[in-house]
Amino acid sequence: MPANTTTPAARAALESAAGTGKIRDATAADEVAGVRPTWVAAAAGTEDVSAILRAAAEHELTVVPRGSGSKLDWGAAPRSADLLLDLSTDSGIVEHAAGDLVLSARAGTPLATLHATAAEAGQQLPIDPPARTATAGGVVATATSGPGRYFFGGVRDLLIGITVVRADGTVTTSGGKVVKNVAGYDLGKLYTGSFGTLGVITEVVFRLHPLAAEHRWISSTVEGAADAAAIVDTYRHCQAMPTAIELDRPEPGGAITVSAQLEGRPDATHDRAEALARDVGGTVTDRTPDWWGQHPFGPADNALRLGAEPAALTALLTATDRAAADTGLSPALRGAAGLGVLHAGLPADADPRAVADLVAALRDRLDYAVLERGTAAVRDALDPWGPQPAGIRSLTRRIKDHFDPGHRLAPGRFAGGI
Ligand SMILES: Cc1cc2nc3c(=O)[nH]c(=O)nc-3n(C[C@H](O)[C@H](O)[C@H](O)COP(=O)(O)OP(=O)(O)OC[C@H]3O[C@@H](n4cnc5c(N)ncnc54)[C@H](O)[C@@H]3O)c2cc1C
Repeated sequence: MPANTTTPAARAALESAAGTGKIRDATAADEVAGVRPTWVAAAAGTEDVSAILRAAAEHELTVVPRGSGSKLDWGAAPRSADLLLDLSTDSGIVEHAAGDLVLSARAGTPLATLHATAAEAGQQLPIDPPARTATAGGVVATATSGPGRYFFGGVRDLLIGITVVRADGTVTTSGGKVVKNVAGYDLGKLYTGSFGTLGVITEVVFRLHPLAAEHRWISSTVEGAADAAAIVDTYRHCQAMPTAIELDRPEPGGAITVSAQLEGRPDATHDRAEALARDVGGTVTDRTPDWWGQHPFGPADNALRLGAEPAALTALLTATDRAAADTGLSPALRGAAGLGVLHAGLPADADPRAVADLVAALRDRLDYAVLERGTAAVRDALDPWGPQPAGIRSLTRRIKDHFDPGHRLAPGRFAGGI
């Protein structure tokens, strides 16, 4: 049985590190995927996080970081959470070097603030996940992205610098504030999508892109997987260079809408879009389709992320149909058809055994099928991340051992049980 670490002495050490009034008892609203932490600490700044993590290390406390909490129930449930480290108040733009197209911000800064700051200078941060409350640190920790990933790359590609506090309180930085940065290992790539298991992110630096003057969306609705895949293929290989290619299929076997986004100079984009629409039998609008950039699931539903080679979209769609028919489930599909990464939504009351069977069937047929979030019963019925090959598993564990030797940061949340 693990030793009780949440002692009065540990709380006193945290209070002394964080300052008066910064530690409180956790409530039901602070639960992380069903696990109630003991205490919550509000952190304000890298030095503050470092002091709190040093105190936590001395008392062997487990620590789970939280941004706005929009994806706190994604990933596996933590094995233990003595302390929830709340970074939502650690917010603010550090620097916007508009001439260099670089923006740095504290981890708790809402993504909406980053977007607004970039837009004031005619620039954009093309990270556009659905949760508008998401924080800069949270999108890096979960590697979430939206439609713009197709052209501009994902979070990992747009992140050029990061400050992270390690489990023992050591402050580390990687990369910097210039786009060309060649010194040392690019640890930002490792921290991206690490779900709080390797360190607490306190500051991030992103590269920006110019904001286009005009956007157009081309949409076509077809009946079959092969027809949808052919349209996606046309977009992927055309010279008009779409900046996003998305797909929406509300019902297995049902109609599929494929939409592409074009952006560019005023007046030029519309003609480009009309020419491309003629090739694919689509219609052009100057507004995003209603479903664009939204997850096909609600906050309480079960959510999957499915991946296959972009050229294997037909196989991805038909594999989902077959698994749906075998399990009696009806997953709604939506996402980045141009990248081969789709989200699937299943209602909260879906039979957990059937969801586990569907995921197992998809893991056999696709590159990956990850349970992004699930009800408690569904999380109990399957490993959210799926099996890792032995070599990857041992590498994952060695990285964890190196960065967090006591396995105290978000223990058990990530692939391989780290
Ligand atoms: C042939 C091919 C070509 C592709 N080309 C492109 C491309 O040009 N551009 C592009 O953006 N995408 C492309 N994709 C898709 C891209 O590879 C996947 O989206 C990517 O694998 C997802 O990983 P991620 O880390 O970016 O983000 P996410 O899928 O959001 O993953 C989140 C985090 O979880 C980790 N993770 C997820 N599942 C596991 C697991 N089972 N074990 C361990 N860790 C896990 C990830 O590494 C990451 O840290 C391509 C895919 C294929 C197969």
